[in-house]
Amino acid sequence: MARYRDANCKLCRREGEKLFLKGSRCYSEKCAFERRPHAPGQHGQRMRRKVSEYGLQLREKQKVRRMYGLLEKQFHRYFEIADRKPGVTGENLMRLLEMRLDNIIYRLGFAPSRKSARQLVRHGHILVNDRRVDIPSYLVRPQDVIKVNEASKKMDLVHGALKDQRGELISWLRLNKAGLEGELLEYPKRDEIPVNATEQLIVELYSK
Ligand code: SF4
Repeated sequence: MARYRDANCKLCRREGEKLFLKGSRCYSEKCAFERRPHAPGQHGQRMRRKVSEYGLQLREKQKVRRMYGLLEKQFHRYFEIADRKPGVTGENLMRLLEMRLDNIIYRLGFAPSRKSARQLVRHGHILVNDRRVDIPSYLVRPQDVIKVNEASKKMDLVHGALKDQRGELISWLRLNKAGLEGELLEYPKRDEIPVNATEQLIVELYSK
């Protein structure tokens, strides 16, 4: 399956904000964005010209897409699903992205980043309702119980991530740290999703 292989930190520098793609490094002084808070490349430090409306929409879409580690085709598919659902398309889109199994693993703190969470899932370390699920895009539903596989419970990556976990657990998840188990309590509302984005710009971009 195709995936992004270039340096993650370049993405933060391109988007002009921290996307937290590298776990604890993102909170340390080694963070590339803290050291070089300008776009990558030879002309990265140049003053930017006024950004067009299209430019704003494009950047917002790229930022959210990169935050969740998706390729354009996958991201656009989420938009199409969100658009078909009743309700506000932008909110539907954010909720769909949050319901991905790799994101839930990251939110529960079992992995330091969405990328590591994806690997955990792909390698068969995660159970949903006691059944192994190795598809990172699997959409979790309320009352689904997500667990680290019994045989994987000693993994340093999981324990290290839980130890480094920052901030409080979000309200729509339940976590049993000792049992390495979590549950999605309900679908979140937009203001309960801790992502700094104006999803309306993405809707406008794709609706052209
Ligand atoms: Fe972004 Fe994290 Fe790299 Fe900093 S360390 S630039 S937040 S990926």
